[in-house]
Amino acid sequence: MAAAFAGKVVLITGASSGIGAATAVHLARLGASLSLTGRNLDNLNRVGQQCEQTGSLKPLLLKGDVTNESDTKQIVESTVAHFGRLDVLVNNAGILEMGTIETTSLEQYDRVFNTNVRSIYQLTQLAVPHLVKSQGNIVNVSSVNGIRSFPGVLAYNMSKSAVDQFTRCVALELAPKKVRVNSVNPGVTLTELQKRGGLDEESYKKFLERAKETHALGRPGDPNEVASAIAFLASDAASYITGANLPVDG
Ligand code: NDP
Repeated sequence: MAAAFAGKVVLITGASSGIGAATAVHLARLGASLSLTGRNLDNLNRVGQQCEQTGSLKPLLLKGDVTNESDTKQIVESTVAHFGRLDVLVNNAGILEMGTIETTSLEQYDRVFNTNVRSIYQLTQLAVPHLVKSQGNIVNVSSVNGIRSFPGVLAYNMSKSAVDQFTRCVALELAPKKVRVNSVNPGVTLTELQKRGGLDEESYKKFLERAKETHALGRPGDPNEVASAIAFLASDAASYITGANLPVDG
């Protein structure tokens, strides 16, 4: 896969940390021209520098909130204005909120769905004309929570099931136009997601201990392991794969 992405323009949301950041650096090594977005500009700059250190072109860094419609429009427009094309959209930005049917407020529900589902819908709508031109593809970052049910993260589970259905439906809709659409469905992966979602240090430690038992390989995943699955689905090596929800869950 040495320069598998040479000449390809890849837009990654949530590239300022975790899986998105690992994917940015991985694709930079494979020669991609990158447009990276997130809300935290310091983190985004750091990831941009890590990409440049691989010898790749300087990534375009775009600060923006994917739940804000004008930010999202700006992100896609600026990417195409800067690079002249778009080949791959990685819909990665996401949040988790802890809570059951008895404890999840409608505000939390809206926050999760606006970030994890609505933003993907809007970004995809904006990107499709460009992806049709380039016969490109989309990789959505879903979760094993989209496929299986876990207690205590109701809105998150529901949002990821919606992402999986979205992936399969849009794959069918865009197949005649030669645009592929897939998702990766990671298991527990070592990022900030759960702590940002409200798990304190002690609960997070217990959560990671449990992950050793719930994952057959006996450990949680590393963001780089998800990044390589994203790179595979986004590459020509996956040219006959569309509508797949690929577990990356040990
Ligand atoms: P992180 O919290 O490390 O990264 C989340 C990223 O999403 C950050 O770059 C963050 O940007 C961005 N983001 C969140 N909300 C917004 C917003 N409103 N606008 C713009 N950017 C936003 O977690 P992960 O890397 O783990 O999460 C990436 C994806 O992986 C998510 O979709 C998550 O659901 C999925 N996933 C993660 C798993 C895990 O165990 N870690 C397991 C399965 C799936 P910023 O910090 O700049 O605000």
